[in-house]
Amino acid sequence: MTVDPHEVQQETMIAMLERERRSLTSSILALVLLAVGFGFYSFPEPFYALLALRFVSFLFTRRAARNLANAVRKSRPTKGPHRLMVLGMALTGLSLALLLLPAPSGTPFAAVLLVNCVVLVTLTLVPVTLAAMRGPRDAMLASFFLTICGQVAFQPTFANPWVIAVAALTAIGIRMYAYNTGEHIVTAAAVLVENRQLSEDLSDALAHAEYLGVRDPLTGLYNRRKLFEERDDGQEGQLRQVLMIDLDRFKSINDRFGHAAGDRVLVATASAIRNCLERMDGTSDLAFRLGGEEFVAILDSEDFEKARSIAEELRRDIARIALDESHTGSFETSASIGLASWHPGEKLDDVLHRADAACYKAKNEGRNRVRSAA
Ligand code: GH3
Ligand code: MG
Ligand code: MG
Repeated sequence: MTVDPHEVQQETMIAMLERERRSLTSSILALVLLAVGFGFYSFPEPFYALLALRFVSFLFTRRAARNLANAVRKSRPTKGPHRLMVLGMALTGLSLALLLLPAPSGTPFAAVLLVNCVVLVTLTLVPVTLAAMRGPRDAMLASFFLTICGQVAFQPTFANPWVIAVAALTAIGIRMYAYNTGEHIVTAAAVLVENRQLSEDLSDALAHAEYLGVRDPLTGLYNRRKLFEERDDGQEGQLRQVLMIDLDRFKSINDRFGHAAGDRVLVATASAIRNCLERMDGTSDLAFRLGGEEFVAILDSEDFEKARSIAEELRRDIARIALDESHTGSFETSASIGLASWHPGEKLDDVLHRADAACYKAKNEGRNRVRSAA
C-alpha cells in the first residue's frame, strides 16, 4: 500500500506544531528563569535587553508557527509561513547565543550557571520539538553557531577557539538527536496516514459488501435475498400488485449474439422496469432480479387496473429493446408478464406463485403478453 507523501508531510507538520503549541508553559518558565538569573547579575541592564530580544524571537516564532499550522490545516500554500518560521528560528538561535555573553565580574556563579543551563536546555528542546521541520531546525542551530563564532571574533573576553569547538559539538549533537526524533515523527505520521487510508478502504469495502448483499451487481436491482427480506417484513395491511417478468427465448439471444449481448439486454430490461415504476409514482415500489432473465416488481398500489396498464407499458418497452448496431441479423426481445394482487395477510410466496402461474400462462398463449392471476 502506498501512502500519499503530501498527506504524511501534512500530518508531520500538524504533529510538530501541536508539540510546539504544548511547549508554551516550558518556554515561559525558561524566560522567567532567565529573568531571575539576570536579576543576580552585577550589571544586568544589557542582559535584560538581550532577554527582551529573546522574548521577541519567542513571540515571532510562535506567531509564525500558528500561521504555518493554519496554512497546513487549510491546505493553503505553506512557503511563506515556512520562511517566516525559518526566520523566527534563526532569530531564536541568535538570541540564545547572545545570552551566553560573559557575565560581568562580581556576578554570583549560581546565576551564571542558571542562565547557561536554561540556554542549553532551550537550545536542545526547541529543535527537538520541531525536529522534522528541517529548515527552521537547522536555521536555529546554524545561527546559534555563527553567533558564537561572531562573538569569538569580536569579543575579546570570548576570544578562545575552544569556544567554537564546544559550540560546534553542541550544535552537531543536538542536530543528530533532533534528526532521529524527526525521523520518528515522520514514521508515526506515515503510520497514521496508512491507518486512516486502511480504515477508509475498509469502510468502502463494507459499503460495497452491503450493496452487494441486497443488489444484483449486473443490473443494480434488488436481489432475491432482498425479496426474502420483504417476505419477512410481511404484508402490512395494504393491497399491492406483483409482476413476474420473464424474458422470452432469452437463451437464443445468448446463443446467437453471445453472453455479453444477453447481459446488455438484462441491463436494458432492468432500466425499463425502473422507468415503469417511476411512472407508477408509488412511495415504495420495488424491483428485483430473481436470477437469470426473471424479474419481480412489487407496485405500491391498490389499483389493479393501473398495475395492468403499467405491465402493458413495460411489455411494450421491453419489446423495443434492441442490441447495439455491432450485431447483425434480426433481433427481437419480449417478455411474458404475470400479474397478481398481493392481498393483506397473504404470504409473499403465495402471491409469487400465482404471478408465476400467470406468467406461465402468458408463455403458453404465445409469449410477449400480460396475463393476470385468477
Ligand atoms: P422462455 O421464453 O421459455 O423463458 O425461454 P428462455 O430461453 O428465456 O428461458 P430458459 O430458462 O430456457 O433460458 C434462460 C437463459 O438465461 C439461460 C441462461 O443461459 C441465461 N442466463 C441466465 N443468467 C444469465 C446472465 O446473467 N446473463 C446472460 N447473458 N444470460 C443469462
Ligand atoms: Mg425463466
Ligand atoms: Mg425466459
